Amino acid sequence: MIDAFPLTREAALRRWREFLPRVTSYGARRNAVRPPHDDVSRLSPAIRFGLIRPEEIVRDTLDRHTLGRMEKWVQELCWRSYWKGWLEMRPQIWRSWRRRVHELHASLPEEQLARARQVSEGRSGVAVMDRFALELRQTGYLHNHARMWWASFWIHAERLPWELGAEFFFQHLLDADPASNLLSWRWVAGLQTAGKTYLVRRSNLERWCAPSLLADTTGLERLEDGCVTAFVPRDHADLTRHPLTVLGPFCPPLKGRTGLWVHADDLCLEDSPLASCQPVTVAAFTSLSTYRRLGLSEARIQSIHTALTDGLTRAGAHLGCTTLLRDTDSTAQGLAEWVKAERLDAVVALSPYVGPVADALPSIRQALQDMNVPLHLLRRPWDDTLFPWAKSGFFPFWEKAGRWLAFQDSQPCLNLG
Ligand SMILES: Cc1cc2nc3c(=O)[nH]c(=O)nc-3n(C[C@H](O)[C@H](O)[C@H](O)COP(=O)(O)OP(=O)(O)OC[C@H]3O[C@@H](n4cnc5c(N)ncnc54)[C@H](O)[C@@H]3O)c2cc1C
Repeated sequence: MIDAFPLTREAALRRWREFLPRVTSYGARRNAVRPPHDDVSRLSPAIRFGLIRPEEIVRDTLDRHTLGRMEKWVQELCWRSYWKGWLEMRPQIWRSWRRRVHELHASLPEEQLARARQVSEGRSGVAVMDRFALELRQTGYLHNHARMWWASFWIHAERLPWELGAEFFFQHLLDADPASNLLSWRWVAGLQTAGKTYLVRRSNLERWCAPSLLADTTGLERLEDGCVTAFVPRDHADLTRHPLTVLGPFCPPLKGRTGLWVHADDLCLEDSPLASCQPVTVAAFTSLSTYRRLGLSEARIQSIHTALTDGLTRAGAHLGCTTLLRDTDSTAQGLAEWVKAERLDAVVALSPYVGPVADALPSIRQALQDMNVPLHLLRRPWDDTLFPWAKSGFFPFWEKAGRWLAFQDSQPCLNLG
């Protein structure tokens, strides 16, 4: 099933070429949940790994259509950048979620933990929700609408902690993305936009689901309109906004032997500000022990491996240098050993986003500093432009992003970074 999702750049570009003629009907069809989900792009795992970039997709779209006509499609792509920018300015929300997951596993009554297991194993007793749980386990994907319904069912109907639902998604989604996942769960829970919760309703399911998904109506009475009422949990996160880390979009002049570190947050080095740097070697690191500790599904682990191998191979071919893919208990340790073995004077990389890769940055910096080797991180121009606008809600963000895109679109040459 993992093959249904593009996990190499070539496959991602192929999927995008196939989907491009269909973007004109995206706005009208995107809400319908009809496996195998041809009405939506299913590009999210590829976008999540940076095998294909949102700015490339927006550029191709605006080359053929006006922004006004394609607004819904472009907006959805921008939601992703919005969530990422929002979380970059509030990294503590990611850390607090990780802490809460630990605490909940240790402190929740066994009865509630057992119910959480039942619901996530597709044994809740509501047939359509159980189908979604199994679809996620079997394919590593759920349609956006199904994610919203299922998260709402978990939080508001089952009254289970949103943090554990987000953990289940994080372990199984091939596109698992700290920002989109956590902040969407918070949004459904009513924590992200004050006074707004998302409530699952039978009439809405009947309107948008393929009839086959509702053929078994077991338990559906629990979701009758008006039956599921809002259950807004306590917010354990500190929402203080911090300034974005200042990172240049250009590669600094480098002296001596430089190594390029490739990671799973951005796997298109040959089309990035690092495309013209001249490293002597490129490396990427996996950590099976960490993936297992986080409970990632085998399909998710395999997807990381496939995408990393593809990104690393392309980077090595483009830059004409040796590559190394190594499994290690800690990225900091792997990087330090690589720096030593290759006698490197500096390491460059595209900056990882808030999430597991960036969590390793403090220990990476320390390990490299101990060896007197600087680490240079760059942010892509697209992110550098959009992230600062993600200060508050999506619509103020979109006002600025939409205006910027319309301006770029009016220029003879579309320059999105
Ligand atoms: C509870 C919940 C959890 C989610 N977790 C994730 C996650 O971990 N990773 C993830 O990439 N998306 C997540 N989403 C957002 C959205 O569901 C997926 O991006 C989308 O379903 C991916 O399918 P697609 O590529 O076919 O989307 P399409 O409809 O074809 O959209 C194209 C691209 O636009 C972006 N996009 C579309 N809708 C959204 C959205 N609502 N929010 C953010 N980006 C969007 C994605 O990059 C997507 O690939 C979550 C949504 C909810 C409600």
